[in-house]
Amino acid sequence: MSIFNFSAGPAVLPKEVLHGAAEEMLDWHGSGMSVMEMSHRGPEFIEIAATAEADLRNLLSVGSDYETLFLQGGAIGENAIVPMNLLGNEKTIDFINTGEWSKKSIKEAKKYAQVNVAASSEDQNFSYIPGRGRWKLSNNAAYVHVCTNETIGGVEYHWVPDVGATPLVADMSSHILSRPIDVSKYGVIYGGAQKNVGPAGLTLVIVRKDLLDRALAITPSAFHWKEQAEAGSMLNTPPTYAIYIAGLVFKWLLAQGGLAAIEQKNVAKAKLLYDTLDASSFYSNPVRKEDRSRMNVPFQLRDESLDAAFLKGANERGLLQLKGHRSVGGMRASIYNAMPIEGVQALVDYLREFERSHG
Ligand code: PMP
Repeated sequence: MSIFNFSAGPAVLPKEVLHGAAEEMLDWHGSGMSVMEMSHRGPEFIEIAATAEADLRNLLSVGSDYETLFLQGGAIGENAIVPMNLLGNEKTIDFINTGEWSKKSIKEAKKYAQVNVAASSEDQNFSYIPGRGRWKLSNNAAYVHVCTNETIGGVEYHWVPDVGATPLVADMSSHILSRPIDVSKYGVIYGGAQKNVGPAGLTLVIVRKDLLDRALAITPSAFHWKEQAEAGSMLNTPPTYAIYIAGLVFKWLLAQGGLAAIEQKNVAKAKLLYDTLDASSFYSNPVRKEDRSRMNVPFQLRDESLDAAFLKGANERGLLQLKGHRSVGGMRASIYNAMPIEGVQALVDYLREFERSHG
């Protein structure tokens, strides 16, 4: 039986990547060492990290006016690290509140700054992205923060907000590398790796170089972007094995044809699943169609007393980790880059079968 893993993260990785890592687990390229055993300052790991960084920059077409950093602390860490690095002499941050992950960012930022929630979709249970025309931005914000893919609510920006000269900061944890992005529209892009990039423990930060002089004096060195940039992300010991696996994922993405090619696959997978949900009154997805996430698809059964039976049947068919986030219940299918269309097809077949037998 094929196994398909719909976890929201840590999440499925490409089989080719895992096989490749398994093969060189004990001896990386004839070095006689596992990557886990290498000094981060030795020539072998320096090569692994430099290749990973170059491949990431290539995939996202990152311009020379941006730094790409491989850090730790996760996206929740960044909720504090971003304000510390970007506040400078300003006191206010503008936030767009589109769901649970925005709320977490807002809560943390309040420890460091005055927060202006410039727009929110809480009025309709976070089922849409407020249009740019409704944003009430302040005129002296240090930056504008958005979460471009809400992993729990399943809403995604399919457009880039224009916020003028104020830096735009995006938490892209759960959809980075799922599509091409125009990095030059953002001041900072960050994300935990454990969804679409690699193992937990690695945090990606892409920051425009002219923003590197705004850090508060209290910023810890390990999280100080300028200090880390100057040290090639090796001011402290980086998460070496996670960087290595992410590097293999970058190579895999390049071999797939890059982000434009992977985007087409992601569009097809998401369409297959949403079309199936929409065609049935047994299942529902609450998100406004134009704002639906291609990566995280929450859905409810009409009768929630069937949830346990649905999940049991799914497990028996090798469709794993479909239980929705504990804060919202129901189901959630995360269909990241490494989820093949066959996995989505198997889920769709099961959705129809379960409806026939319980509808
Ligand atoms: N932001 C988003 C959009 C997320 O999905 C998550 C993790 N689910 C986080 C932030 C928090 O990430 P971490 O656990 O790596 O700190």
